Amino acid sequence: MVSTATSAGPVVGVLALQGGVAEHARMVEGLGARAVLVRRADQLAGPHGPRVDALILPGGESSAMDRLLRRLELFEPLRQAIGSGVPTLGTCAGLILLADRIRDPAPGQQSLGLLDVTVARNAFGPQLASAEASFEVAGVSGSGEGGRVLGALIRAPEIIEFGAGARPIARESGRILGATSNESSALGRITGVAFHPELRGDAALHRALLALAGPRGGANGGQEKRTGRSANRPRITSIASGFSSTSTKRRPSSAAAAPVVPLPAKASSTQSPGRDDA
Ligand code: GLN
Repeated sequence: MVSTATSAGPVVGVLALQGGVAEHARMVEGLGARAVLVRRADQLAGPHGPRVDALILPGGESSAMDRLLRRLELFEPLRQAIGSGVPTLGTCAGLILLADRIRDPAPGQQSLGLLDVTVARNAFGPQLASAEASFEVAGVSGSGEGGRVLGALIRAPEIIEFGAGARPIARESGRILGATSNESSALGRITGVAFHPELRGDAALHRALLALAGPRGGANGGQEKRTGRSANRPRITSIASGFSSTSTKRRPSSAAAAPVVPLPAKASSTQSPGRDDA
């Protein structure tokens, strides 16, 4: 699955301490990149600079990842690599790790503080409230209807505040579920989304990440190999009920409600086998 062969495509480091690592590795390899599972600082940078062309911080449990990052002395090297401009995509817990500010952090929880947003952890309720949905993502054309990006919400955070350094890019029913650093390109170098496109096989955000990764990005012309996960999914049509609300979230006036339905009883099957912490 994760290639060791040389490849002309970009090298994408997937933070591999915990959580949904394999799905992201498969996605980028399907796009012609080489996935490197990052567990040590020397995988991020060497004497001649960064060793990865892009980074992905997966979903899982942000407080556990934070603890492991610090225990493995990877917190600061990761912060430096991303801060030095390596294009980075965080999903769910990865978004929380990137955020400047966390509402309802676990005791002692820290974040990398690289994306100028406040995220509210677990804003959509517990694991049982997991839902599949599609999301309007500015500048990114997903495989859902009207170019929406398909994703799953699993104990997802919500973005409730923006500073000057970030702007919203993903919305669903008036709630902001994605942010990117405030650069002129469609996607800034640091992007976080609250949902999991990798669990629905929607490669649009991964493709956009690779496009930022430099001249080698998109080496195979954006042709992805099918992961198969998006096949035969039921079409999703209305908003999931039971989402909790928070009083301070911003509701963009132009937000278009993306169609969603609550998942059926097997909702949590969007998780990979063996993942108990997404
Ligand atoms: N609620 C989790 C956290 O706080 C994130 C869940 C996920 O990544 N699916 O890290």
